[in-house]
Parts: sequence; C-alpha cells; structure tokens
Amino acid sequence: MFDPKNWKEDTDRLAALAADYARSYLRRAGDLPAFPDREALAALDVFKEPLPEKGTDPEAVLSLLTEKGEKGVCPTAGGRYYGFVLGGMLPIATAASFVTDAWNQNAALYSMSPTAATLEEVAEDWVADLFGFPKGTAMGLVTGSANALLTSFIAARNTLLARQGWDLHRQGMTKSPGIRVVLSAEAHSAVLGALYYLGIGTEELEFVPVDEHGRMIPEAVPPLDERTLFILQAGHICGGSYDPSDELGDIGNEAGAWVHVDGAFGLWARVTPGWEHVLKGLEKADSCNMDIHKTLNGGYDSSILLYKDREALLAALAVGGSYLATGAGRDGSGYATEMSRRARGIVLWAILKQLGREGVSALMKHLTDMTCYFAEGMEKAGYELIQPPCFNQFACRAGTEEETMRALAYVQNSGITWSGSSDWKGETVMRFSVCSCATTEEDIDAALAVYRAALEER
Ligand SMILES: *Cc1c(COP(=O)(O)O)cnc(C)c1O
Repeated sequence: MFDPKNWKEDTDRLAALAADYARSYLRRAGDLPAFPDREALAALDVFKEPLPEKGTDPEAVLSLLTEKGEKGVCPTAGGRYYGFVLGGMLPIATAASFVTDAWNQNAALYSMSPTAATLEEVAEDWVADLFGFPKGTAMGLVTGSANALLTSFIAARNTLLARQGWDLHRQGMTKSPGIRVVLSAEAHSAVLGALYYLGIGTEELEFVPVDEHGRMIPEAVPPLDERTLFILQAGHICGGSYDPSDELGDIGNEAGAWVHVDGAFGLWARVTPGWEHVLKGLEKADSCNMDIHKTLNGGYDSSILLYKDREALLAALAVGGSYLATGAGRDGSGYATEMSRRARGIVLWAILKQLGREGVSALMKHLTDMTCYFAEGMEKAGYELIQPPCFNQFACRAGTEEETMRALAYVQNSGITWSGSSDWKGETVMRFSVCSCATTEEDIDAALAVYRAALEER
C-alpha cells in the first residue's frame, strides 16, 4: 500500500535491494544466455495478468521483476552480444545513471536544477572541442538519434525557409516555398522517418546513388542550392561505411546548402586512432548527431545533436515565442523538442570526466580492434567478408543466402553469442556490431567457436 509515512524507509530498503541486484546482474551479464530460449520466453507469461485491484508488497514486486524479467533480457552489457548496433555500459555510466535517478532532476530549466544545467553546459563545450566544432557550438541532449535527426531537421528546415523570407512559426507550412532534401540512397530509416514527420515525402527526396560500399558518390550529387538540406551518413548500418565528408562538405558549403551528418554510432570515428580520416572535413557540417547509448557505452536513452548556429536552433525550438527564457543559466529544454527531460548531461559529463580525450579514443580504439579481430577470425573460419571491418561494423555471408540464414539461426539458438542480419543490396547477410566496452578477445574466441560449429553443421 502507498503510505507517505513509509517513503524514507521503503526507499532505503528498495534502493539497496535494487543496487545489490544490479551488481549481481552486471557481474553475470557476460555469461548469461545471449538470447532467451523458448522456456525463458515462456516465463514472461507470468507478467500477463489483469490490472491488480489490490497492491503488492514492493519487495515482492522487485523480486518478481528481477527473477522473471531477467529471463527475457538481452545481455548487451556483456561482451558477446553483437546484434543491431546496441551499446554496452561503462561502469561510470551505470553509477552516474543511479545518481541521476536518485536526484530525479528535471533538466528543462536552470531554475529546476542548477547542477543538471551546469553539467550539460560543460559537456556542451567538451563535446564541441572533442569533435572539432567551433567554440560556441550548441548541443542538444535528446532520447536517441531518431529524435536528434528530427530536431536537427526542424531547425534546418526553418533556417532554409527563413532564407527564402518565410517565417514558419508565423506563416506555417501549408503555403511555404518548401525546401529540397538531398541524401544517400542508403540513408538510415530514422532519417526518412524524421523527414516524413516533417511532412516531406519520398517522392520529394533526391536520392544520391552509392558505390559498392554504400558510400554516396560525390560526382552523382545533383546541383545543390541555398534551399537544400544535404544529409550525409557517417556509419552505414550494415557495413559501417562513411560518405566522403570532406568532399561532400565542400560541395554543400559552396552551394550554401545546410549540411547535416548522421553519425549515430559512427561519428566517434572522428576521435578514434587510425579512423580519423573517415570523418575528415566533419567541421564543414552545419549540424550532426551521435548517440551516447551506442558506441560511447553511456546507456539509454541518450543522444547528442551538435549545431553550429545556436540562435537558429533556439529560434526553431522556441515555444511561446520567447527563447531567451529565464536568464540565470542554461535552459536545456531550449535545445530539444521536450520540456520535462531526464538530466542526460550528468552521465555524459561523468563519462567525459573519467575518460578524458585519451580515454574516449582508447575506448573507441578497443571497439575497432575487437572488430578487426572478429572479422579476421570469421574469415579464417570460412565466412566471406562482404563488408570488411569499418570502424565497429562488418558484414559477411556463409555461402548462399539460405546457408547464411541457417548458420545465423544456429548461432542465435546457441545462447553463447548473438548477432543479427541486415539487408545488403537485396541480400540478407550477417551483420556484426562490436559496441560493448566489455568485449574481450576471449569473448570473441567463444563467439568464433560457435560460428565455426555453425559451418560444420552444414
Ligand atoms: C541507430 C541509428 C539511428 C537511430 O538512432 P536511435 O538512437 O536508435 O534513435 C539513426 N541513424 C543511424 C546511422 C543509426 O545507426
């Protein structure tokens, strides 16, 4: 039963139990089944009941949650999960996230949380510095790259319309002169989603053909102009490839187009020893996005958008006309499409404070080293690499499409490791993403043993 008199005591007891459980789970995460088997999935049925009329003791709720809920958890915090592009969790991120939960701060306004506002502001400077954006670049912290893309495109669209003498907030969309959107034929579905939400349909989009690695071909870019939103990709969702940002950045800048780089997981290559070249010229972009929850291993749900023109971003996202809000300090909601917000800057600040520039590079280098080690092992095991390792991704096949699917099913049922499939030029292939800071060579050796066995099964 709810009783305010018990608040202190209940919080104390439950927080300790939850912390104990979290420690136990994270100790075991590397050895848990990489995907729940049929029996484990059936255990989730225990949750499917009508809304209870009477309450339950909170300890019982917590133990039901942890015992039964854990059965259906995919252990992305461990080292043997390579599916989709899902990050692991740095220990400092887990810890700072606990603190964020306990503080329960609303990062909408400075006056709601000076600490959240201050850390977000400090992190803004650090991230701009890390990625080579000019001092004064604005940062928004949002739920994920899907939202970062939407937010960035809202501001870009308004700016492109303003250049044509159109004030979107006053005059609206219906009769506006519109904008052009030029993007890769292989842009991520989240990019398309953001454009659809903005009322821009597929038939209006100008897709640029790609080369054999899925990179936009600069010679195939149509003439751009000052009405154009030009969207580049840094990290193809299958093989990890990069649109050539240096050359494309010049093309965009010379035409006066708005250049955006979608680097949800791949933007971190900019600070990765040996990979900086794939993002040469990134500073030519007007805006970009990258996740905290993917390659930075900062936990959900957290993403960064960087925006050179602070005023344009604030003006586009302003509600009620006044964005020079309350004055005392940073109002984080001005940099997002949200009002009440989780204080995502706390975890971001903690990670950057612990790792520093060198540590971030070392983390990314680790992911890329593990990716190369994995890909080499797959080739030795008899798989064909169709996309060689690029940053933290690679893709391969086991023979025919059917043989690939059979090998993948074997691996996915093994419980030892998990990776998924991706569409590559109309063919279903195996896609690997090494995204967890916990992954070691031993983890990959264990995974490789399963992939070898999958081929022997044929
Ligand atoms: C993952 C991803 C997205 C979507 O990001 P979320 O954080 O899942 O919202 C967008 N673009 C690319 C290239 C991605 O890899």
